[in-house]
Amino acid sequence: MSCILTFLHARLDEDQQHAQAEAVLRDDDPYFVNEASNFERCFTPERMRAEVDAKRRILELHSSTETLDKPKCTHCDWQRWPCPTLRILTVPYANHLDYDPAWSVR
Ligand SMILES: [Zn+2]
Repeated sequence: MSCILTFLHARLDEDQQHAQAEAVLRDDDPYFVNEASNFERCFTPERMRAEVDAKRRILELHSSTETLDKPKCTHCDWQRWPCPTLRILTVPYANHLDYDPAWSVR
């Protein structure tokens, strides 16, 4: 099993890069001022960057610790590692080649 934190940081790095590329494409494009759909107006590069930042803050809160015989999350009241919060954060990336089905949320 690969590390869930490494996986999530890599996906967030990709999302941040996509947001930056989209910001360059949209810069000074009148389409996004005059004709864009509600979806396009809602999911802006700024929104993506804010979501990436929020998810990075969540990742900062959760870490594993080796206690007794199994790793636990230091934030989630000692839930088994990886905790449900981190596994839920992997849901948007479930089709990625590096996704581990063991992280699925039941
Ligand atoms: Zn946790």
